[in-house]
Amino acid sequence: MVKVDVKYTKLFINNEWVDAVSKKTFPTINPQDETVITQVAEGDKADVDLAVAAAKKAFHRYSEWRMMDASQRGRLLLKLADLLESQARYLAELETLDCGKPVKTAEEEVYYSASVFRHYAGKADKITGSTIPADGDVLSFTIKEPVGVCAQIIPWNYPIPMLTWKLAPALAAGCTMIVKPAEQTPLTALAVAALIKEAGFPAGVVNIIPGYGPTAGAALTHHPDVDKVAFTGSTEVGRIVIAAASVVNLKRVTLELGGKSPLVIFNDADVEKAAQIAHAAAFANGGQCCCAGTRTYVQSGIYDKFVKKAAEIAQKRSVGNPFDDVQQGPQIDADMFKKVLGYIEAGKQGGARCVAGGDRHGNKGYFIKPTVFADVKDDMKIAREEIFGPVQSILKFETFEEVIDRANDSKYGLAAGVITNDITTAMSFAKFVRAGSLWVNTYDYVTSQTPFGGFKDSGIGRELGEDGVNQYLEIKTVTMAVPKMPQL
Ligand code: NAP
Ligand code: MG
Repeated sequence: MVKVDVKYTKLFINNEWVDAVSKKTFPTINPQDETVITQVAEGDKADVDLAVAAAKKAFHRYSEWRMMDASQRGRLLLKLADLLESQARYLAELETLDCGKPVKTAEEEVYYSASVFRHYAGKADKITGSTIPADGDVLSFTIKEPVGVCAQIIPWNYPIPMLTWKLAPALAAGCTMIVKPAEQTPLTALAVAALIKEAGFPAGVVNIIPGYGPTAGAALTHHPDVDKVAFTGSTEVGRIVIAAASVVNLKRVTLELGGKSPLVIFNDADVEKAAQIAHAAAFANGGQCCCAGTRTYVQSGIYDKFVKKAAEIAQKRSVGNPFDDVQQGPQIDADMFKKVLGYIEAGKQGGARCVAGGDRHGNKGYFIKPTVFADVKDDMKIAREEIFGPVQSILKFETFEEVIDRANDSKYGLAAGVITNDITTAMSFAKFVRAGSLWVNTYDYVTSQTPFGGFKDSGIGRELGEDGVNQYLEIKTVTMAVPKMPQL
């Protein structure tokens, strides 16, 4: 086991490390061997009150942060990106310890996150309003202003990228924020907090409160001084968040939620390449990916060949110690481990054909074999519900008209993919599919510049790109009377 030094376990409020008011702590677990890594300060309502007060003060019109030039906000973001890269290996090892993802992937995620901070560094001084040819004797223009104090609640599957997707646009916009990381993965958010302080962000701009959803999370979503909630997690909790956010005031709400995304492969596809893309779509991050392409629809002409190939690739996927050179580590925790094995059982009971995996891997830690089901029917539980584990469901189809309706027959609409060389098929699919991201001949291609988010029960709003920063801005319209000039 690689020894990783855990440096930060306290709450980060007003650029200081503090214990919880209650002095309570909670354990964070290593999913590889189920041992306790360390105790972390457990934030609750009293701590949320302190953090919100700090964020509110930092947002005051005379504060250093509010008076700072936008270009200077950009420079701080650039500094933070550099610091992240300088600590990439350490942050990756800490992530692997706490979250179980392969260390190579964790390191790539740190570099990716630095690129997102750089993208928004460039945006900070390019947030512009517009001048408007309003009717009458007036001059009208808009100013885009930061929305204010933001609560940001994030999940455990991509701890640093999810933190970055929330922090970077909010900082570029000039907001202040309180982040609640997932209870399973608090450590890297705290390590990033130390870098935020080192980069020179003023006190109170970013506060990090580890703790539980129903306590710390709920205190944030109910707080009267919070102007906006940005949430990433399950659709179930998303519903609780949006309801809570309207109780004492009307908070702006953005939600990035679950999915059950279809990837549709037509007869003209290269079977080997398509099976590789579909494998990555379903199994990236051990299937713990909101936009995982877990419904693999394959046209009948290549179906049998495809199933054989998909099974072969899954059987070869390396699973094991995430500090080694493997493709897949353990699932995040005991609950998810049991839940995923329950879905695998449901697949078998429901009559799907298990052609790879179907069981736990080893007998310690939350490891699950990459599992492939063929002959899956649309009404089976494994075809309808989000599994959030390494399980691919393969379904057969005949025609375009049939598959587009089947692909859209889901309460979710986060992402979709199509593999074909026929441009009309690809573009027709892009036109008719009801999803926030559509990938053609690739999958899960997410960049800092391209908006990401869901249709239907997959969410509200977008992150990344121009749309991402707009979610942290209010539009103010200024209209001034301009008297008619007398005719000379
Ligand atoms: P989750 O249970 O919804 O938790 C997400 C976050 O919400 C955690 O920080 C959690 O705290 C917190 N939370 C729980 N109850 C809360 C409450 N009553 N009020 C306020 N906050 C509360 O989801 P998860 O199990 O961590 O993550 C898996 C799910 O997230 C999947 O469904 C996946 O699809 C979705 N996801 C979506 C995206 C996307 O971009 N659309 C990205 C990643 C994941 P605790 O840590 O204490 O539970
Ligand atoms: Mg952990």
